[in-house]
Amino acid sequence: MDKEILNIRAHHFLCMQGFQGYGYSDDFVAHMSKIVNYIRENLDCKINLINSCDEICSVCTNNKNQQCSNKEVDNMDDIVLSKLELKKQYIISAEDAFNLVNKKLKTIEDVKDICGDCRWTEKCLWYLNRERIFNGTVD
Ligand code: SF4
Repeated sequence: MDKEILNIRAHHFLCMQGFQGYGYSDDFVAHMSKIVNYIRENLDCKINLINSCDEICSVCTNNKNQQCSNKEVDNMDDIVLSKLELKKQYIISAEDAFNLVNKKLKTIEDVKDICGDCRWTEKCLWYLNRERIFNGTVD
C-alpha cells in the first residue's frame, strides 16, 4: 500500500474486524485480505473515513462506477458516522477508528441499526461477538 492516506468507508471498520475470508468473489477476498492485513500491521496509518466507494470496494463486483449497487449497505456508513459523532472525510489513525467503533457502538440496538440488513452477519466475527457480548453470554 503506497498511499499516504487510505480512503476507507466507515462501516468497513466493522467488516474488517469480522472478516474471516468470505466475500463476493475470489479477487475480492484476496484484495480485502491484503488491505485488512496491511491495516492490522500498520495501525498508525492515516485513514480518511468516507461514505462512498473505497479501497476495499475497488475490486468488488457490486461497485458500479464508484457506486455500490448493494442497497443493504446504502446507509451503513452514514449511521456509523452519526453514532461516532463524526463527519465524513474525517482523518483518523486506523487504531483510533477501531477503538472508537468498539467503544461507541454500545448496545445491540446500535449494532442492529447498522448491520441489521447485512447478508454477512452469520459469517462476521465482529457481529457474532457483539451479539454474544450484548446477550450476556460472554464476559
Ligand atoms: S458491497 Fe458495496 S460497500 Fe461492500 S465492498 Fe462491495 S462495493 Fe464496497
